[in-house]
Amino acid sequence: MTTSLERVKGVGPKSAEQFAAAGIYTVGDLLHFLPRKYEDFSEVTPIAAITPGKVTVRARCEKIETRPVRRGMKITTATLADATGKLQAVWFNQPYRATQLKGGDEFFFSGVFEFAYNRYQLTNPSAEKVSDTPVQTDRILPVYPAIAGLKTQLVRKILHELQPLMRMLPDTLPEEIIRQYGLMSYSDALVGLHFPKTLQQTKDARQRFAFEELFQLLLASQLNKQENAQLTGWKIPFTQPVVKQFVSKLPFMLTAAQRVAAWDILQDFEKSEPMNRLLQGDVGSGKTVVAGLAARQAAYEGFQTAIMAPTEILAQQHAETLDTLLHPFGVRVGVLTGSVKGKPRQELLRAIEQGEVDIVVGTHALIQSTVAFKRLGFVVIDEQHRFGVAQRQALLSKSERMPHLLAMTATPIPRSLALTVYGELDISVLNEKPADRKPISTKIWSPNSRPQLYEEIDSEIAKGRQVYVVCNRIEESAEGDRKSVEAEYKRLRQGAFKHRTIGLLHGKMSSQEKEAVMHDFSEGTTDILVSTTVIEVGVNIPNATVMLIEDGDHFGLAQLHQLRGRVGRSGHQSYCYIVPSDSKAPTRRLREIEKSNDGFYLAEVDLQLRGPGELYGRAQHGALNLQVATLGDTHQIQQAQKAAQWFVSSGKNLLHYEQLAKQVQAYQRLTTLN
Ligand code: ADP
Ligand code: MG
Repeated sequence: MTTSLERVKGVGPKSAEQFAAAGIYTVGDLLHFLPRKYEDFSEVTPIAAITPGKVTVRARCEKIETRPVRRGMKITTATLADATGKLQAVWFNQPYRATQLKGGDEFFFSGVFEFAYNRYQLTNPSAEKVSDTPVQTDRILPVYPAIAGLKTQLVRKILHELQPLMRMLPDTLPEEIIRQYGLMSYSDALVGLHFPKTLQQTKDARQRFAFEELFQLLLASQLNKQENAQLTGWKIPFTQPVVKQFVSKLPFMLTAAQRVAAWDILQDFEKSEPMNRLLQGDVGSGKTVVAGLAARQAAYEGFQTAIMAPTEILAQQHAETLDTLLHPFGVRVGVLTGSVKGKPRQELLRAIEQGEVDIVVGTHALIQSTVAFKRLGFVVIDEQHRFGVAQRQALLSKSERMPHLLAMTATPIPRSLALTVYGELDISVLNEKPADRKPISTKIWSPNSRPQLYEEIDSEIAKGRQVYVVCNRIEESAEGDRKSVEAEYKRLRQGAFKHRTIGLLHGKMSSQEKEAVMHDFSEGTTDILVSTTVIEVGVNIPNATVMLIEDGDHFGLAQLHQLRGRVGRSGHQSYCYIVPSDSKAPTRRLREIEKSNDGFYLAEVDLQLRGPGELYGRAQHGALNLQVATLGDTHQIQQAQKAAQWFVSSGKNLLHYEQLAKQVQAYQRLTTLN
């Protein structure tokens, strides 16, 4: 399996290079190269019975000639005959056919029988001697994804060379699992993939490989979980009066879901094994205060908390929120981002190291080597899917022992997926919004009726509320097909909203500029904030009640839901207006978002519409690179999960399964949060 392809018969240095460019280096890589589709040429038709379409005939070549046509093109025409009749075959630029077909042997010809140049003909058929094993004809032919410079025929030929090997490979899964779940054996599945006798075989083969991938992935997370349970972390005992006091000083009542999540965390804190928990909550469900509560408990026991957020705006905002909530209890909060520089930075780093700061909120700046903690007991990663495994690990490693980890995400994930992506995590879900919230009213608004829209928006501003206007470009593009924040900012200032104050925010501005703009907006000095999607993640300005999304058809469902989640953060009625780029009928995506405020429901829809790729954290998904498994297949995921549980509890030694171990260990490295 690990033999370099170049050593296989039929692969030269040139084709080896072409394979390598497509990521295929070894025999094993090629065996796992999945056909894109199959074409059924398995049935031989007598020439007299042929109808247009894909056909295979078994015939001799009676006459063959090649003649040049224009611009160096050569046409080869042959008359093929069997006992029932004759037909004409035509090849373009394949003069070698004359040599191949001479001599009166019987051949299989597979190709398309079609009407061309005023007659029916077989165009560009493959041809193989009947006395040889057919590779390119007379069978269900796999069609492989295109590799630059390489013909699919060559792929088939090399796989044909490897067929004896396929048939003798040992299984990669324990036989108990093969039996229990009625799977094809490994070697049958490989043969079924590349040399199927029936189309059902190709399906069963894929099914087996999909199961295997899921099994490996789920086994990896179970092993991670097991390893985590063996670590010794920090015990942080629960101090009821401290938590009660914190809760009683909040300006609101915690929701039931927040209480349950907080309780989950406080219980995990008391164990010696480090917490590994995901807090999943729809936008606006109030995750920050849950993290704050836990950080309060940690600080009371003398532990520091690090909270990492994906943007400076967000870090700043969390720090302010937590400072307001926790300052009264003497908990000290610091902010560390790229824009904290010079003396203040030195001073902050010193304070963190001396343990004079209890909660450090920051961006990626937190993972720099200059940052050292005195006693880091609790790590919170906000919008965790924005970070890669390495970044999370870097932060966790800043403690002598594994700290407790709380990963937070506002991207709800369907249950079936949660198992595969977050199998090793315990999950808490905030499935309710604070009681005072009214559902956001969402409307798709035709671009032709902008004046009426602006009137509605202006009446909200007149009531003292604030407005976001989101465009997905910073500057006008050459095509001018989509709105840019810069142009829109100008247009609104000179036109419909010249009597209002307007701010502008985008990712190319300096941190100081951004901070100043956010500050003005959160203080209520500006009425309207024209922004790119930099405000997509986490920003919390409760007085903003209108979200206007321009060119809404250019955003994904999850993104639209996130953007909408910037409003509806107070007791006021909020509105989301989505203006598509043209007045065509709205897409399914837009209709769904108009219909539902439920992030979990929308995530299910998104999964159907786009597949699972987009739901993963970016850094994780690319690397997982699942080839066959469809993560939407809940039933199969459950089966694979059962198999993985069985494997762990059966006490089998992973190392006895070489290929499985290799894959599982790779997945373990990719998915672990530790
Ligand atoms: P998200 O879950 O999207 O991160 P936040 O933590 O930013 O949400 O909270 C959104 C807003 O809701 C904040 O202004 C927060 O103070 C407020 N909030 C949180 N919990 C409650 C609650 N139980 N009742 C009322 N408001 C709450
Ligand atoms: Mg948040």
